Amino acid sequence: MKGEIFAIGTELLMGELHDTNSPYIAGELSLLGITVERVTQVGDNLKDLAESFSIALARSDYIFTTGGLGPTQDDLTREAIAVSLGEKTTVSSKLLEELEDWFKARDMKMPERNIKQAVLIPSARSIPNKMGTAPGWFIEHNEKIIVAMPGPPDEMQNIWVNEVLPLIKARIKKSVILTKTIKTLNLSEAEVAELVAIFFGIENPSLGIYAKQDGIHLRIISKAATKAEAMNLMGTVEEGIAKKLGSHIWGYDDDTPEEMAGRALADRGLTIASMESCTGGLLSSVLTDVPGSSDYFKGGLICYDVDSKLENGVPDNIISNYGAISRETALAMAKAARKKFKADIGIGVTGVAGPGKQERKPVGTVFAAISMDGKDRNFAMKLPPRRPIVKRRAVVAILIELTRVLKEPSRRPT
Ligand code: AMP
Ligand code: MG
Repeated sequence: MKGEIFAIGTELLMGELHDTNSPYIAGELSLLGITVERVTQVGDNLKDLAESFSIALARSDYIFTTGGLGPTQDDLTREAIAVSLGEKTTVSSKLLEELEDWFKARDMKMPERNIKQAVLIPSARSIPNKMGTAPGWFIEHNEKIIVAMPGPPDEMQNIWVNEVLPLIKARIKKSVILTKTIKTLNLSEAEVAELVAIFFGIENPSLGIYAKQDGIHLRIISKAATKAEAMNLMGTVEEGIAKKLGSHIWGYDDDTPEEMAGRALADRGLTIASMESCTGGLLSSVLTDVPGSSDYFKGGLICYDVDSKLENGVPDNIISNYGAISRETALAMAKAARKKFKADIGIGVTGVAGPGKQERKPVGTVFAAISMDGKDRNFAMKLPPRRPIVKRRAVVAILIELTRVLKEPSRRPT
């Protein structure tokens, strides 16, 4: 089944409005097994819209539109659909009454121009919009479906979830669709793609690749008549990918680095403290995003300059011998934080967030360390040289490494 999406509005073409509706709908359609082949942005122009819909009707089974359902003259989606289907619009007295009631409930008189929001064509049924005055249209025409939804994202999503999704699910032949996201770190998108190349040619399960803040994600979508069959298909590809990517995989589906680290700490009943330099407190912030983190997070220090590191327990000779940005200082910071907060584990992180080099080290150089009973570990990162990215990526890498360390039985402190 093929689908296409139209985001309608001249403001989209002028760069004034960012289209967030299409990605939402595209994500939903992929879960329904409808392949989105095109996403198009079209201005508020009757001829352009009608032409676009006619072309789409010839090649796609499902057409979804958002925008252009407002009361003003430039909103022309309904009129354009009518033209492309060769149908006439008429005012529905039922819809008109509902609209008038909507205004009455707000002590307002309905402006004349809102009447156009009460029109229908013979093959359209109205989709109620509880959040606004623009009802949508659900059209069945020669086995094709057109769904017209309002532009405001909250109205569109409300209509989608409550009205459109049930109608589409009812039409689609009963099949089970399963998805699984595999999350990796420390490999580029090209490297991941290369390693799992053999799985990309397969239609079912299909494989997508996405570069995210916490690494490269792969998403498997498998579709079959029964759940067992879908799981079987999924399992084969998942296993194959796991073999190829090995320890680069750090999580699945909704896993986040901070939740995984938090769970690993809670499972072992261990506490943690941090001393951060280049990440400016982001590590503590992210760790404490997790509900229940007060059980294991004892505290964090942001020691941005050398003096503050010294004052908080980093030995002078380490910084003078190795520099403030070094593996050795990161480890000394981890130890100092651990001692200061009487925690089981200390984390230290120091690096160059930019814009310029420091201690002759390029922007994006980060050293991090994990200190725990007799099992100290430190590691270096080379991150893209942009400040917010350096901070976020460093925190992600530290949390993933921490989880890994905590899950290694031999490295568990007693
Ligand atoms: P319209 O239905 O064309 O009158 O659009 C109403 C409002 O919805 C616009 O002013 C935008 O704020 C929002 N909107 C319309 N289309 C989109 C879109 N594709 N993505 C995000 N917001 C949108
Ligand atoms: Mg508009």
